[in-house]
Amino acid sequence: MSVNEQMVQDIVQEVMAKMQIASDVSGDRGVFTDMNEAIEAAKKSQKIVARMSLDHREKVISNIRKKIKENAEILARMGVQETGMGNVGHKILKHQLVAEKTPGTEDITTTAWSGDRGLTLIEMGPFGVIGAITPCTNPSETVLCNTIGMFAAGNTVVFNPHPAAIKTSIYAINLVNEASVEAGGPDNIACTVEHPTLETSNIMMKHPAIQLIAATGGPGVVTAVLSSGRRGIGAGAGNPPALVDETADIRKAAEDIVNGCTFDNNLPCIAEKEIVAVDSVVDELMNYMINEQGCYLISKEEQDALTAVVLKDGKLNRKCVGRDAKTLLGMIGITVPDNIRCITFEGPKEHPLIATELMMPILGVVRAKDFDDAVEQAVWLEHGNRHSAHIHSKNVDNITKYAKAIDTAILVKNGPSYAALGFGGEGFCTFTIASRTGEGLTSASTFTKRRRCVMTDSLCIR
Ligand code: NAD
Repeated sequence: MSVNEQMVQDIVQEVMAKMQIASDVSGDRGVFTDMNEAIEAAKKSQKIVARMSLDHREKVISNIRKKIKENAEILARMGVQETGMGNVGHKILKHQLVAEKTPGTEDITTTAWSGDRGLTLIEMGPFGVIGAITPCTNPSETVLCNTIGMFAAGNTVVFNPHPAAIKTSIYAINLVNEASVEAGGPDNIACTVEHPTLETSNIMMKHPAIQLIAATGGPGVVTAVLSSGRRGIGAGAGNPPALVDETADIRKAAEDIVNGCTFDNNLPCIAEKEIVAVDSVVDELMNYMINEQGCYLISKEEQDALTAVVLKDGKLNRKCVGRDAKTLLGMIGITVPDNIRCITFEGPKEHPLIATELMMPILGVVRAKDFDDAVEQAVWLEHGNRHSAHIHSKNVDNITKYAKAIDTAILVKNGPSYAALGFGGEGFCTFTIASRTGEGLTSASTFTKRRRCVMTDSLCIR
């Protein structure tokens, strides 16, 4: 798949023309008023899942994939309508990606040793019921991707979604349960509560049936989960820098970086949040960004005005997160044509619009005196999140040096950030990138425990 802006616009037009979202989207499969009830239902369901053959699990997953594709437009539109964030066309592509590239049961593999003393297997078994906390930035994408992986591994899941995206999350939870029942599986493979709160989240984290918690979100939720006393998978915040050196194809770098940065209005945690470029290429790079890639250059006064709106009293203004460049500029009284998709300026790394994870199409450019300086500034900007970073360079020594220094779960070379999700790049898709706890891009095998099965003195037939 490749992202082509025209293609995206065409999809959006088509969706707008043919779709009317039903005003009542909430069915009740998997949805409970009480968190304890939701967990009990998921526990019952898991007992059935544990007895299902892998083949049967795979049939359910195929039906989930089919339903995601059929509902991609609705889910995308709901997500944008409910949260006010993101881009419908891009969200459709994200759902298609989840449907096509999230690994299923094939991800669960076995290791074997056989010899004179018998046969030993390491099998990947389910945890049971997993608790999952999901963000408002990719609400249904995360619910769907988590459910496929967790269910493929033999688990069921209880979600505590972001309250600002609960309708969209419930729609996705209904969908996976419907898919399971239609394919002869149990109901409640994914459960949630009608009104998720910090309290329901706490009940979930402390419940004895929950053996593993996957937290996808900012630093607060990851810290809460890692302090819960349960095993936690922490998929936390990022602030990915895109480094450009003098060996890069500068014109292509400008295109890739702006494509990645503007995808779903910069909501993905992996998306380029700022650029660090060596001195000799900064002007050329910005030239391409402004003249060919729809970037609007803001003056010092406009930077100040934008900072005041975007970081109200130093805090991220939620009304700006996931908005497009035209809307953001409109907030400071600037009207721009429709081709403007990104905002840019040159500034020091400490500039608040550069150092903060904004999740908006604002790409500040930091000038570095040479490559080593660029690496140092990029590492500072990543804030030790160990999440994602990107580089545009043809020099393998430079790429290696940067990769070692920044030490992130994702490092895209010479492409847009979304290539890391398998979109225009090789590999599988996930929307939970365990940056804090080190599992990296999660998939079914991440949601398993290793079990050693030993037969002594038999079954070796070598
Ligand atoms: P958020 O941290 O505000 O919320 C995420 C989830 O955590 C929500 O369900 C929220 O209700 C819950 N939550 C927040 N604080 C909590 C606490 N103290 N205890 C229990 N639950 C709590 O994040 P968001 O705005 O929804 O999403 C954006 C953030 O998530 C960004 O920082 C982004 O980088 C990160 N993110 C990371 C990944 C990843 O895979 N690493 C993926 C998507 C988003």
